[in-house]
Amino acid sequence: GARSSGGEREGPVESRETRLRVVLRVRPLSCTETRRGDRQVVHSLGDGAVHVSAARHDATFGFSAVFDAGTSQEAVFEGSGMRQLVELAIDGFSCTVFAFGQTGSGKTYTLMGPLTQSETQPATPALLGLMQRSFAYLLEQSQSRGSDLALSASYLEIYNEQVRDLLSSGPPCALPLRWSKTRGFYVENQLNVDFESLEAIVSLLLQGSQRRRTSAHALNRHSSRSHALLTIHIRSRTPSAGPSKQGTLCFVDLAGSERVKETGSSGELSVEANSINRSLLALGHCISLLAKPQKKRTHIPYRDSKLTRLLARSLGGSGITLMVLAQRRLGKGPAPWIGRPEGDSDHLAESLPASLSCLQVACISPSSHCLSETLSTLHYASRAR
Ligand code: ADP
Ligand code: MG
Repeated sequence: GARSSGGEREGPVESRETRLRVVLRVRPLSCTETRRGDRQVVHSLGDGAVHVSAARHDATFGFSAVFDAGTSQEAVFEGSGMRQLVELAIDGFSCTVFAFGQTGSGKTYTLMGPLTQSETQPATPALLGLMQRSFAYLLEQSQSRGSDLALSASYLEIYNEQVRDLLSSGPPCALPLRWSKTRGFYVENQLNVDFESLEAIVSLLLQGSQRRRTSAHALNRHSSRSHALLTIHIRSRTPSAGPSKQGTLCFVDLAGSERVKETGSSGELSVEANSINRSLLALGHCISLLAKPQKKRTHIPYRDSKLTRLLARSLGGSGITLMVLAQRRLGKGPAPWIGRPEGDSDHLAESLPASLSCLQVACISPSSHCLSETLSTLHYASRAR
């Protein structure tokens, strides 16, 4: 059972074989919340535990890690296992990072840092998010491995179950999502832009994010009601060194998880709310099924939403591969969380590392005002774990 090339790794972050890691980030109280006199109802207890106490609520939740209001962007990067995900993607695996939580809870901040209005000025280095830090680490690793990696990026948005290319400068149009035996689910005509430097990938990120924000009349509402998926494709340029490897690292800024009030909502709002609820439910459903032992697992409903279709590979590969992997290697262990690299599945079954391929960052506000949404995020996230 040789491991994929890339040399010896440190052991997994957690001793238990695990494919999914869920961490919690609590943002500081905002000025508005402080001015309004909101109380802080979320308290970190240390050791990955968080306590919510308010009038009629008193509950504790557990995570792989809890980052409280004082935690820096750098500490979130270092403490979340993000480096390991980048390394796995370089080794040919499909890895995904999700940011989940209600609008205003800090998802975009955690992934990208505070975006300036124009988004043309670079953010303060200390405030850069998980994405820029991962890009920097990826490029550093790629260089130290003798530049035999070809890197490219795609950036998509899903809004009302329609997929749009955020890297395309043309007029916004919906792209078809298709499936093929060899490629799995893929988006037709999606742009995949090569890059070699940190500046280049950061500029793609900013251009795409700006398109996401300015594409609708109601700016904020639109970006908080859509899912954005930035995927880095990592191909090995030296095919002689073994079976060709193609890893991916996908960052998903999920739509705000809050319930849109049904009362008085226009037709458009209901469609929107329905598609968001549907895709977040489908995602939660796929995750909790995959977390079950193989023999208790039933069919995984990737087809229930565009989001889960696009993430199917990261979430566990195609059904057949999943079974092969499970029989060969993971019969008794937890679900094979790792998406398969391209190539022969028997060989891959031997080389599956017992570590992380999926990171979920649940984001919450500490404010009493957000209590019910916070509780629902905590329930959703701790179910995934
Ligand atoms: P979301 O993407 O979940 O809707 P944002 O990331 O846009 O939320 O965050 C909402 C606001 O809170 C922004 O002004 C952001 O700069 C601020 N914010 C979020 N998280 C933090 C944090 N950890 N520290 C400081 N400010 C934060
Ligand atoms: Mg956001």
